[in-house]
Amino acid sequence: MDRLRVAVPNKGRLMEPSERLLADAGLSFERSARALTVPVRNVPIDLLFVRTEDVVEMVADGVAGAGITGFDLVAESGAEIPVVAELGFGRCRLTAAVANSSPITSLEGLTGTRVATAHPAITRRLLAERGIEATVVALRGSVEVAPRLDVADAIVDLVSSGSTMLVNGLRPLATLLESQAVLVASPGTDDRVAQVATMLRAVTAARTRRYLMLNAPGDAVDRIAGLIPGLRAPSVVPLAHNGDVAVHSVVDTDDLWHLLPELEAAGATGILVLPIEQVVG
Ligand code: AMP
Repeated sequence: MDRLRVAVPNKGRLMEPSERLLADAGLSFERSARALTVPVRNVPIDLLFVRTEDVVEMVADGVAGAGITGFDLVAESGAEIPVVAELGFGRCRLTAAVANSSPITSLEGLTGTRVATAHPAITRRLLAERGIEATVVALRGSVEVAPRLDVADAIVDLVSSGSTMLVNGLRPLATLLESQAVLVASPGTDDRVAQVATMLRAVTAARTRRYLMLNAPGDAVDRIAGLIPGLRAPSVVPLAHNGDVAVHSVVDTDDLWHLLPELEAAGATGILVLPIEQVVG
């Protein structure tokens, strides 16, 4: 059978999490530093290791059937390639900012100014959509120093924690675009890409969830079920004696902080929290 090519970042901040995601989805491969393509041992897929910014091109041209890259790069390219899965890592925001000393206090204040960015196409479009006419100065890197060098009055750049802007004496005005790593597919792709998308979505969905098991007296079940509704409803299994039950459910990891004490107060004992590898449906 024909092997599907999947383009994957070969360096930079999306490389390691992309490889981990593919491995967690059950793909068995051995990355070697120099190889451009790496065969997956247990699935008819070849991984094509390229620069993060080249993934869109590879997929748009059909050189690869699918690829992992940042949504900001897909938006910047303007390529008509569908996003088939959001992957939950590489989260960042395309943010407009000015120097702390600037008199500009809102996005509208950028009208008539020079805005430096490594994302010129999307910046032009997002500013124009808001009725803001600015001169976009396209830079390849070091965007954050542009106001200090008087190359621009403002910048539009990717931010995750915001600390780089802070360190460079910049004040954020507004977020123009939210981004994360995505799986993109070449137009007219086949079932094999849908299969990869399902596998990667299954891992991504599992990462933010935990499997919860606990014991409880039978008369506490309604209260406990109300706290942990699960994917549909919790499973309630009778224990061998005492009229006690075991309750199993899936919860969002972020909810554990408040859930565990609430469950304990509701009469739960022997609470176990387990990782989940994949969630489908
Ligand atoms: P790279 O330049 O190869 O390290 O990857 C850049 C990509 O990583 C960007 O296109 C974004 O999709 C993503 N990313 C996530 N957080 C950030 C950030 N704080 N700064 C720049 N890129 C980020």
